[in-house]
Amino acid sequence: MSIRPLVLYPDPRLNLVSAPIEEISETTRRLAQDLIDTMRAEAGAGIAAIQVGEPLRMLVVEASYAGTPDPLVIINPERLQASEDTVEASEGCLSVPGLYEPVERPAEIRVKHLDLEGRTREIQATGPLAVCLQHEMDHLDGVVFLRRLSRLRREMALRRYRKQGAALRAQAT
Ligand code: ZN
Repeated sequence: MSIRPLVLYPDPRLNLVSAPIEEISETTRRLAQDLIDTMRAEAGAGIAAIQVGEPLRMLVVEASYAGTPDPLVIINPERLQASEDTVEASEGCLSVPGLYEPVERPAEIRVKHLDLEGRTREIQATGPLAVCLQHEMDHLDGVVFLRRLSRLRREMALRRYRKQGAALRAQAT
């Protein structure tokens, strides 16, 4: 088990487009476990590999969000379909601690991906799972959720984020 340090906004690594995983190896399985451990340690609903500094197309979703007994490990996801109707849900991000903002996204999506055994899987997702999957899949393309906000909202959120960062730094000294 290993909890990895998080890559925090505005680290430029969060803008990288992650590369597909060509082969599922012991390293892939170790990375999946590290993602699960780190997500749990930080009480997140999901996490993408780039958030621990690995620019690879892998993400995990907490079991309670996925409605499965174990966390979902999703490799090389591809969005097959997205509904025209949208929902607005409050989103946060382990890489942007303390900031929660409403983001509008398709309400329902269908995603094809590989699991840790290399099998092709499909998920039809609605509700919090659909939101979480889209948020994490954005990370694989170098998109942090703040980019989905209107410019005004983003500027206000970033001002709060910077202020809060400065307050934390002042506390630490
Ligand atoms: Zn995130």
